[in-house]
Amino acid sequence: MDFSLTDEQRQITEMVADFVDEEVVPIAAEIDETDEFPWQLVEQLGELGLMGMPFPEEYGGAGLDYHAYPAALEELSRGSGGLGTIVAAHISLAGNMLYAFGDEAQKEQYLTPLAEGEEIGAFGLSEAGAGSDVPAMETTAERDGDGYVVDGGKLWISNGSVASTVVLFAKTDRAAGNRGISSFVVRPEEDEGFTVEGTEEKLGDKGCPTAELRFDGMYLPEERRLGDEGDGFVQALKTLNGGRITIAARSIGIAQAALDAAVEYSQEREQFGQPIGEFQAIKHKLADMDTKTRAARLLMHDAADRKMRGEPFIKEAAQAKLYASEISREVANEGIQIHGGYGYTKDFPVERYYRDAKLNEIYEGTSEVLRNTIADRLTE
Ligand SMILES: Cc1cc2nc3c(=O)[nH]c(=O)nc-3n(C[C@H](O)[C@H](O)[C@H](O)COP(=O)(O)OP(=O)(O)OC[C@H]3O[C@@H](n4cnc5c(N)ncnc54)[C@H](O)[C@@H]3O)c2cc1C
Repeated sequence: MDFSLTDEQRQITEMVADFVDEEVVPIAAEIDETDEFPWQLVEQLGELGLMGMPFPEEYGGAGLDYHAYPAALEELSRGSGGLGTIVAAHISLAGNMLYAFGDEAQKEQYLTPLAEGEEIGAFGLSEAGAGSDVPAMETTAERDGDGYVVDGGKLWISNGSVASTVVLFAKTDRAAGNRGISSFVVRPEEDEGFTVEGTEEKLGDKGCPTAELRFDGMYLPEERRLGDEGDGFVQALKTLNGGRITIAARSIGIAQAALDAAVEYSQEREQFGQPIGEFQAIKHKLADMDTKTRAARLLMHDAADRKMRGEPFIKEAAQAKLYASEISREVANEGIQIHGGYGYTKDFPVERYYRDAKLNEIYEGTSEVLRNTIADRLTE
């Protein structure tokens, strides 16, 4: 297994790292404070080709593979966890649904503006009563002539209030269980009956709006359906499997940020006449933080490698996301501990890393659900 990046992949990652240091890090605390969508940053990402990283150039993408894309997403998340979610939901969820299951016309019409960074995408799967239990969803898309009438609501939709394209999952056959779910393209600015009910006030992940969406008698023509009727559940699972690689990347980026901050602080802060970094207790914390972050990165690239080679990767993507998300929270926690009382204040970014890290254990499969996924694969 060789996961070393090629020269081109390294150049892209370095370009993104420089962009993050120059443009994201200086305003990350402000994004956290205001919780406003960073339109200007996202526009810059579009200009750099970073809003369509893994998609082919013919659809406006940058044609990056699944080592370079997560490596770049890791860098963006090192700067801002909210930005990491914005890009992950836009590319890995909304964009990948269109790329994998859209027909040519749908890709051209809806994927290309997303990949070029002209529009924002969102993925509407979860509902108030249907989080881990996806088939419990109650949103329906009833046949009506050549189209569908959609009624219901979605909760927790990242980018939901700013998206021009929402990939929506709804039941087209209530009696068919998993096989009764279909996916559709919703265009909030065009489709009557679509409303944004509000956005959540969250612990972290600021800058990425997490929206509640409502659909009241919203008509969608048949051309908006992705794939066949009844394919939605399988499409969602396939998309989330790939998405977990990028949530691992977001986790690793946040862990790296916490580690970097802790290393720096441990060299500067003196107690008992010496930098705290010279105490063995602190050295061991830093060593563990680095080891866990590296291990998570290897798991991520292993899952990415399998995905690219067309091998089964459900277990490996779940493991990468599970491990990376848990160590991300642990590493951020130690980041605060190493900063002592200062780490518990807004004077240093480590408290933000801790708040941002926690989310990784919840979305795109909670840690409990991922453990089920992994264990089920062991006994298959
Ligand atoms: C900030 C944020 C952004 C999000 N973005 C999106 C988005 O863009 N699109 C989208 O569709 N969704 C999104 N989500 C929703 C997210 O995917 C769900 O919150 C997640 O799947 C968990 O669902 P739930 O919140 O309903 O929790 P529940 O499913 O109710 O889980 C509650 C608890 O029970 C446990 N549990 C549930 N089932 C099992 C089981 N079978 N075995 C063991 N334990 C179990 C869970 O692990 C958890 O600890 C987002 C959520 C958040 C918080």
